[in-house]
Amino acid sequence: MKNIGLIVPCYNEEQSIGIFYDAVEKVFNDIKENYNHEYWFINDGSSDNTLDKIKELKKADDNVHFISFSRNFGKEAAMSAGLNNAQGDYIAVMDVDLQDPPSLLPKMIKYIRDENYDCVGCIQTSRKQNPIRAFLSSSFYKVINWMSDVEIKQNVRDYRLMTRQYVDAVISLKEYNRFSKGMFSWVGFKTKYLEYKGVSRAAGETHWSLYQLLEYSLEGIIDFSDVPLKMATWIGVLSCIISILGMLFVVIRALLFGGAVAGWPSLVSIILFIGGVQLFCLGILGNYVGKIHLESKHRPQYIIKEKK
Ligand code: UDP
Ligand code: MG
Repeated sequence: MKNIGLIVPCYNEEQSIGIFYDAVEKVFNDIKENYNHEYWFINDGSSDNTLDKIKELKKADDNVHFISFSRNFGKEAAMSAGLNNAQGDYIAVMDVDLQDPPSLLPKMIKYIRDENYDCVGCIQTSRKQNPIRAFLSSSFYKVINWMSDVEIKQNVRDYRLMTRQYVDAVISLKEYNRFSKGMFSWVGFKTKYLEYKGVSRAAGETHWSLYQLLEYSLEGIIDFSDVPLKMATWIGVLSCIISILGMLFVVIRALLFGGAVAGWPSLVSIILFIGGVQLFCLGILGNYVGKIHLESKHRPQYIIKEKK
């Protein structure tokens, strides 16, 4: 008998929880001779009745556990709390909105059990997205794979099943700024990726705005790459070379043809350009310094208000 822990981050999901629970129960009904399962719902500071719904389930089913945060800390923190607390031989992380279909679980378990994989991840194909989002998302994966050592598959979900050893490896990464897609890849081990066709939410609506997705992408790049810092250096070197050439040109022209007073507009544009480059590079640097600042405070990733 193997125990499977299911980590389920929930933020304002009162409509989805019941549907999710029923769908998962149905899947485990078919494999209950070999597998026990436990739920670890993480209530990420929901302002609706999510917590009450979870408590209702807990009353009826001893295998339901929950952790409730003191406020909304974000999905990364919720997953982190789940990984730190969930027990089981295998641990899965899955969304409550059924966009991570529970029906894939038996197949995922098989890969780990019979084919010795340490982790099975899921890649979503053909999700209905507006073209701008789709373009930005595919550019993000290209950029982060080019800039960092970790390899992140395009459209990989957070939905994954992991062995205890794999989860312990992820927990051993103590950073405060957690970009889990990168961390899962960074720990290594043998990972199998399953592809499945994207589905729409069972109920409720997504919590991600375009701006949040951009922030999240930037975070990922900064957490796993120092290429932007190097780029800033090279931009600096390049502008130095250009300005030295420019100076030589001006001095030689003045020596050969006498002083030229004209050229005020070009001078101003050059000053503005250099100023812009400096601010841009300072911005890159600032992002990294900000991360160091947050890391150095050693704040917890989340605060637990209730745990059962
Ligand atoms: N979620 C969370 N905290 C947040 C935002 C989302 O725990 O601050 C949970 C949410 O309840 C869901 C999962 O993370 O179970 C994925 O969220 P969502 O469906 O909004 O994202 P999408 O599927 O659109 O990427
Ligand atoms: Mg979703």
